[in-house]
Order: sequence, then C-alpha cells, then structure tokens
Amino acid sequence: MSHIRKDDLIIVRTGEDRGKTGKVLKILSSKNAIIAEGINLGKKHRKKRKQQEPSGILTIEFPIALSNVSLYCPKCKKGVRIKIDRTKGTKKKRICKKCQTVL
Ligand SMILES: [Zn+2]
Repeated sequence: MSHIRKDDLIIVRTGEDRGKTGKVLKILSSKNAIIAEGINLGKKHRKKRKQQEPSGILTIEFPIALSNVSLYCPKCKKGVRIKIDRTKGTKKKRICKKCQTVL
C-alpha cells in the first residue's frame, strides 16, 4: 500500500530517470503506477485527424511503477521513508522518518 497521492512530490529511485523529481499528476491504482510531471517521458506519434491539427510526435509522460518512486522530502532533499501518524481524532499525517517533517 502506497501513501503517495496526487500533487505529491516524488523522486525516481531506479532506471533512466533516477534522481529526478516530479509532481504526481495521476494515480493509476489499478496498475500500481503513477504519472508524474517530467518523469518517464516518451514519444508518441499523433495521427493527423483534422486538417488544422498538427501531426507529428508528442512528448508525453508514461506511467511509472509505484515501487520505483519514493515520496520526496524537501527538507532532506531526497526520497525518504515515511511513517503514518494515526493520532486519534486527527487526520492521518505522513511524516518523514528522518526529519519528522509532515509531508
Ligand atoms: Zn525529511
């Protein structure tokens, strides 16, 4: 179970984009993947459907497996492990295990 949510900042832990950070744009929970800004970019050909539409190659973000990313802590400046604060009566909070910042 991941605690990553939309608009979180994540860092890529493995692969070509290792070390890159990006904002989560979409959660694909059925695929255990996310789409994040500027991460896992790929090219996609677009077919010309209408005369006024430009055809050609688009750069788009492809999904990346949740297991390949970590939540990014701006204070630690790296991907961190988090713990969940389940104090009764309050909203669940995600806390950086290293510096105790609420993420
Ligand atoms: Zn931290």
